[in-house]
Amino acid sequence: MKANVKPVEMLYEASQTTLGLIEGAVPKHEMQILKSFFRCMESNLRIKLEQIAEGKPIIGHHFAFPSEVFSCFDAVPICVEAISYLFSALFTTGSEKYYDLANSWGHPYHSCTSQKGMIGMALEHNFIDFDVIAIPSAPCDNTIASYQFFSEHLNIPTIVADMPYYHNSRGYEYYSNELESMIQELSTILNQEPNYERLRQSIIYSNHAVENLAEINNLRRSIPCPVESVFNPIGSAVQNFFSGQVEKEIFYNEVLEIARERVRTKKAWRETDERVRSFWPYMSVFFDITFCEWLDRKLGMPIVTDIFNYFFFGPIKNIESLDTKGMIDGLAYQSMEYPMVRQSESFASVFFEDAVNLAHQFSADCAIFTAHIGCKQSASMIQLMREILKEEVGIPMLTIEMDIGDKRMTSLETIKKKVLEFTQTLL
Ligand code: SF4
Repeated sequence: MKANVKPVEMLYEASQTTLGLIEGAVPKHEMQILKSFFRCMESNLRIKLEQIAEGKPIIGHHFAFPSEVFSCFDAVPICVEAISYLFSALFTTGSEKYYDLANSWGHPYHSCTSQKGMIGMALEHNFIDFDVIAIPSAPCDNTIASYQFFSEHLNIPTIVADMPYYHNSRGYEYYSNELESMIQELSTILNQEPNYERLRQSIIYSNHAVENLAEINNLRRSIPCPVESVFNPIGSAVQNFFSGQVEKEIFYNEVLEIARERVRTKKAWRETDERVRSFWPYMSVFFDITFCEWLDRKLGMPIVTDIFNYFFFGPIKNIESLDTKGMIDGLAYQSMEYPMVRQSESFASVFFEDAVNLAHQFSADCAIFTAHIGCKQSASMIQLMREILKEEVGIPMLTIEMDIGDKRMTSLETIKKKVLEFTQTLL
């Protein structure tokens, strides 16, 4: 029987249409990063749909999972959270209909929309026929609570890799063992032997992406910032949807070339001068990517970085000669230091230190914190974050309460108004 993959088909059509529009209607030198993203997205989704049509099993996974491990199998990985938020970003009606379905079923209205979109899609039978779901027990209670829906209500086999609280050598070793067990469980469920040479190739793609992102971030420290703000929400999708796949390497490679060229030629690449460099310690706005263009073009206020677009780890070394255990150890470490997991799953001091470090590195003039309604643990530290950034870096922080994936909680107009008022206190 043909697997149901309606959300993936819808995203594929949306990517094709958007790519056609921006390549056809937008001048060649404009929105280059957005174009690169949609080229990769279109190709990634097309290949996924072809593989599913061939009958390959589908692995649903959480964004904070090192999805390179799935490349051990002849299967198609699909990130649950990325589907919800790609719907928010690409469709005018967003994922709101699905959030409402999940809410009326009984899922709390104040939980994280990152999983809620897919819960609503399942309730409408407009879902993805996952053969198995794999998640870590991190970074938050929302994750664990929401995945019970897939496991217990939909009866999809759901494997959880237990992530320890302590991020030290003992913790990394423990999590590496968890990943090894997960591969064995997947092997049983999918009835396939793991192919570790495919895993190696997948890590090679990711290694190149990690190296390129580090270089992109070096260039983003330049004044003016050579990368559009839209890189931030897009980068979050790239991290999570293309993880361990060639499109991640291609995207970062293309962005790196664009940034190098802009820094080298020192040519103005946008109409508005850079006036204020904003650092977003948490996430950017996902439900409307035009907001980033508004920041760049109207305010001259680039987002120089956010939580998802900076890795506090390097590539996995000596990948060509590493044995299986070494590869999984490397993935376990990266996974525990992955954006949002690193800052949300451990002591708050890590989040504060990272924010101070990034604000300094990127010469930020101010910070803007998205107080995402679902994310209780991040909201609990906002006041301390404000005080620390003021004391350590000397910059003010604006907090905007919103749902990053649901435009109804705080409208785009309200967000713009708050940002605009904030900038007037800075200039
Ligand atoms: S935004 Fe917060 S609540 Fe949502 S998945 Fe991330 S850590 Fe969990």
